[in-house]
Amino acid sequence: MRSIISSINGIQMSSKKAIFSKTGYIKGKQCLKSLYLYKHHYSMRDPIPAERLKRFSLGSDFGILTRQLFPNGHDASPTHVHRYSESVALTQEFIRKGITTIYEAAFLFDGILVYADILTKLSSGWALYEVKSSAKVSNVYQQDLALQFYVIKGSGLELLHASIIHLIEPLSDDYKEQEIASLCQISDFTEYCNEKFSVIQDEILEMKTMLARSRIPTIQMGSHCQVPYSCDFIGFCTRQSNTPTEGLFQQ
Ligand code: SF4
Repeated sequence: MRSIISSINGIQMSSKKAIFSKTGYIKGKQCLKSLYLYKHHYSMRDPIPAERLKRFSLGSDFGILTRQLFPNGHDASPTHVHRYSESVALTQEFIRKGITTIYEAAFLFDGILVYADILTKLSSGWALYEVKSSAKVSNVYQQDLALQFYVIKGSGLELLHASIIHLIEPLSDDYKEQEIASLCQISDFTEYCNEKFSVIQDEILEMKTMLARSRIPTIQMGSHCQVPYSCDFIGFCTRQSNTPTEGLFQQ
C-alpha cells in the first residue's frame, strides 16, 4: 500500500501500517527470531504467566498515578489496541490545538508505533516522559525511551528532552496515592537518546529486512533466551530443537 504523507503544523503523519511497536523492538534486540515469531506466528507463544500479567497491571496503575505530576493533560489512548491510527491522528489534533500536556501520545514513523506516557510542551519544543514503576532504570528502559525519542523526533516534533520517571525506592504495600509525586524521581536521558538515534535507525532496517523474509531466522537457543526477559517462544524453540523434522515453518 502506498504511504501517504501529510503534514500538520510541520509534523509528518503517515497512513502506512505500523510494522511493529516498542514491544517488538525490544524483542528484536533480544533475538531476531523472537521478533519474527511475534510478528508472523504470534499464536505459537507460550502462555503469559499470571505473575507477569499482575506486573503489567501494577505498572499501568502507577503510570496513571504519575499523571499527577503533569495534571490536566489530554489522553490520546486508543479505544482498541488495533485502532492506533486514531490515536496518532488525535495526538496531532491535540498538538495543532495547542494542548500542552498529552498522555499516551501516539506517533508512527519508519513503520514503528510508539505511545509516549507523558508529553509536555516547553517554552520552545517538547519533553517526553516514560514512566516505570521501578526504582532501577535498566538498559531496556533506556532503549525503550530512545526508540520513542527516535520515532517522535523522526515524525517532525521538536523534541528537546527525554526522561524516565521512576521510583526513588520500591513502593511499600501501604503507599498512599496522594503521595506518589514525592516517591518519584525524574532522570534525564536526552544525551543517551541523541547518541542512539542513528544506531536505532540501522537496527530497525535490519529488523524490517529480517521480517520480510519467508523463513524463520535460524537462531539456536542460549543464554539470550532469558535476558533481559524470558522469551515468549521458549516452548516453540524447545519443541523445534527436539523435533527431527526441524524447520516446521522454514520451508
Ligand atoms: S527461545 Fe531463544 S532462540 Fe527462540 S526465539 Fe526466543 S530468544 Fe530466540
